[in-house]
Amino acid sequence: MRGMTAAYTSELAEALSADVLDRLLRYVRIDTQSDRAYPESPSTAGQLELGRLLVEELHGLGLADAALDANGFVTATLPGNVDGAPVIGLLAHLDTSPDESGANVEPLVHRGYDGGVIALPRRDTVLDPARMPELTSKVGHDLVTTSGDTLLGADDKAGVAEIMAAVAYLAAHPELPRATVRVGFTPDEEIGEGAKVFDIEAFGAACAYTLDGSELGEFTDETFTAASADLVIHGVDVHPGFATGKLVSAARLAGRVLAALPAELTPEATSEREGFIHVYSVAATAGKATIRTIVRDFDDELLGQHVALLRRIAEEVVATEPRARLEVDVKEQYPNMRRFLDAHPGVSQAALEAIRREGIEPVRVPVRGGTDGSILSSRGLPTPNLFTGGHEYHSVREWASVHDMASAAAVAVRLTGVWAERAG
Ligand SMILES: [Zn+2]
Repeated sequence: MRGMTAAYTSELAEALSADVLDRLLRYVRIDTQSDRAYPESPSTAGQLELGRLLVEELHGLGLADAALDANGFVTATLPGNVDGAPVIGLLAHLDTSPDESGANVEPLVHRGYDGGVIALPRRDTVLDPARMPELTSKVGHDLVTTSGDTLLGADDKAGVAEIMAAVAYLAAHPELPRATVRVGFTPDEEIGEGAKVFDIEAFGAACAYTLDGSELGEFTDETFTAASADLVIHGVDVHPGFATGKLVSAARLAGRVLAALPAELTPEATSEREGFIHVYSVAATAGKATIRTIVRDFDDELLGQHVALLRRIAEEVVATEPRARLEVDVKEQYPNMRRFLDAHPGVSQAALEAIRREGIEPVRVPVRGGTDGSILSSRGLPTPNLFTGGHEYHSVREWASVHDMASAAAVAVRLTGVWAERAG
């Protein structure tokens, strides 16, 4: 059944929609899944393949300096046409999540969504509006889904496609006043590596925007502050037949540590601005147990308290057995971008203005996660995050609205116009 067709948020969005869709379908066919096991940048060769394709396409659009560097970063410049306007960056990441397969992605386009359940051909995967409330607002939209057994890769190839379509449109419309745009496509966002080695100075932008969010109109200038905390418990392993009075089981001590962690401080029991301790991996033998956790909060002080609590619980449990030994390894992962963006209020204001000019009421949401912008903002490049129109990331149910992707591309076009007005 073919439903009705929904309106685009603007004529600009409508004009961009075919190109955005075309690009998404092309980019998701390249497997760019990143891999935590490889410390090189990029972590996988597929990211270079997509990078090469994008450089070729950027050259085709007239961005002569488009280049792919050895670390897998694609950069290019679309010169502005207003003297004195600041240089702004548009960023999206090339890689897809290691959580589900990103190989042999076969995207499906569903025209004029009718509001019902979408059954995908493989693995009995179903998109049910009863469980995905965002779907209910997409009646009449054109949707893109997987075939049911892979990621779609709209995270973040929707962002890549939107930036490419926006740049193509701007290049073809030199009469529109625009700031100089630096395009950046980055590797290994999903494994938290890309932004750490991004050359901010060479990029040369006053501020940047990642297109890596989700629902139409969402804007993020606040993320979690994040740390990892690994606990290693060393026991004393002895043949169980000769163990009387000698064996100290690290596995049992680990179990007691886990049982003592507060149940209300988990990802599943918290929401909105509440933080958590998430145990994501436990490996234990009698001789040695390793508990890996991530700790999150929007408030740096509360984050410190969660880490201290975890440490104290582990120390108290392990102290009950003098022959056992505990190691605790805490690492900062990324900071809440808010405190860095507060110093540059114009960066968020410009984004909110561009969203409004597209006829959309912006929704400011603190993200219970991080973006490349968390690290980039702390390294001196203020980088909040814009929506892309993609949903259910990191799963085989991933989908994107073509209508909303077109709106995101239109917001990117308008953003260059907002900054052109700020020539000084
Ligand atoms: Zn992403």
